[in-house]
Amino acid sequence: MKKTLIIGASHSGQMAARELRRLDPSRKIILIEKEKTTPFIASGINLVLSGHICDLKEAITAPADLEKIGIKTFFGYKVTKIMWEYKKVYFTNGKNFYEETYDELILATGAKQYLPKKYEGMSKVYSYKSFSESESTLAAIEKSNCIAISGVGYVGLELAESLLNVGKKVVLIGSGQHLVHEYYNEKISDFLKNKFKEKGASLYLENQIIKIEEGNKGLSLQLLQENIDCDILIIAKNSRPNSSLYWDRLILLPDKTIKVNQYLQTNYPDVYAIGDLIALPDLITKKRVRLSLVMDALQTGRIAALNIAQKKLAVPEHLDISTTKFFDYYLGSVGLTARKAEQNNLIYEQITVGDLTTTKATVYIDSQQRLIGAQLIGKQPIQSFLDLIAVLIRSNWTMEDIYCNSSAFFPTYTSFTPLLNEAAGIYLNEK
Ligand SMILES: Cc1cc2nc3c(=O)[nH]c(=O)nc-3n(C[C@H](O)[C@H](O)[C@H](O)COP(=O)(O)OP(=O)(O)OC[C@H]3O[C@@H](n4cnc5c(N)ncnc54)[C@H](O)[C@@H]3O)c2cc1C
Repeated sequence: MKKTLIIGASHSGQMAARELRRLDPSRKIILIEKEKTTPFIASGINLVLSGHICDLKEAITAPADLEKIGIKTFFGYKVTKIMWEYKKVYFTNGKNFYEETYDELILATGAKQYLPKKYEGMSKVYSYKSFSESESTLAAIEKSNCIAISGVGYVGLELAESLLNVGKKVVLIGSGQHLVHEYYNEKISDFLKNKFKEKGASLYLENQIIKIEEGNKGLSLQLLQENIDCDILIIAKNSRPNSSLYWDRLILLPDKTIKVNQYLQTNYPDVYAIGDLIALPDLITKKRVRLSLVMDALQTGRIAALNIAQKKLAVPEHLDISTTKFFDYYLGSVGLTARKAEQNNLIYEQITVGDLTTTKATVYIDSQQRLIGAQLIGKQPIQSFLDLIAVLIRSNWTMEDIYCNSSAFFPTYTSFTPLLNEAAGIYLNEK
């Protein structure tokens, strides 16, 4: 009987285990995870603060049925060493030491928010992703009044909004000029800056923490031009792959993600890597980009399982697709973003249609008239619209195809597709 070992039982690891069990009922599957409970929704703190859930435990997503479906689990056990030649993994719960051999190994150890050295040993500096980190960060938040957040991407801003909504004083510190620059253009960043200021947040952009001092009552942060006092600091950036266990033998990319082929195999064909631990070629730029979202973790987990079960399937090129909500406005971005275009010197045209009361969409078009990206903002939920645009991008639809396409009509349902038809009409008219 074949034996597959999986290290990491978060979104990607558990998906791989479950899918492999479904595809191959007779296989021995062993899941080793250093935390006691996973997978955990990393933004669970926001769900508690916003009242969507009452307890962080409700942000643990999977039912505890793994053993019932024949997956042997070791929760609370950390893998400390891999003997690649002997196909053997060593792990411990701090008291007992174990070893297991494998036929195939799946690495699903994801990524972690790293605290820079200057914060080491400080009791009022936090970061969170796992359940245990989130528990201690939430306890600190509850006792604090003024909270500084370093990082103005999705993680930092979503936390900032949740804190503002429960009456905390929020200081946002970002190294760049714009908010969520990775996904949205300057206009959306400016819109968000105004919203966060209106709600009472203090913004320190193009800034950084040069020095930090911890006193009995709180922290003193020295920024480029000013000093700020706060109760706690939360680091909402610096996510890095948890790959140090493999540095001795596996081929890595410069950002320390693990290099995998299109079947998600590492340089050892029986060793697969999935989720936040890897980078895949981007559909638009063709450069490898690190995976950093739950859906990508689940998809790569599925595909690795399928390949181990001998049903060869290549992972498709990566298409960035992300969404969030700030102060009643849904935001979403797919494919090319302004930042990616700048970084890769990509030439594109853009058309903006719609308005904020429903949905405002900016679509990006390449020189062959193909839709290659979009960013959306508005008061109407946009998830299905994002998914539709993603399919159109993957299918190489041109603006002519979009212009000619018609969609279903139902009197009480507002369809998004007319927005795309309108954008295509404007584009073709300008040509
Ligand atoms: C604050 C925050 C908010 C986020 N919000 C969103 C969101 O809204 N939407 C979204 O799509 N994504 C979000 N993400 C990203 C998302 O959490 C990740 O993409 C996802 O968790 C990746 O899953 P994974 O299984 O690849 O890795 P991870 O979730 O990082 O899991 C890796 C697992 O491996 C375990 N592990 C590591 N080393 C060892 C070892 N040596 N031995 C045993 N076990 C080990 C870890 O304990 C962990 O459980 C957020 C991330 C953060 C930090």
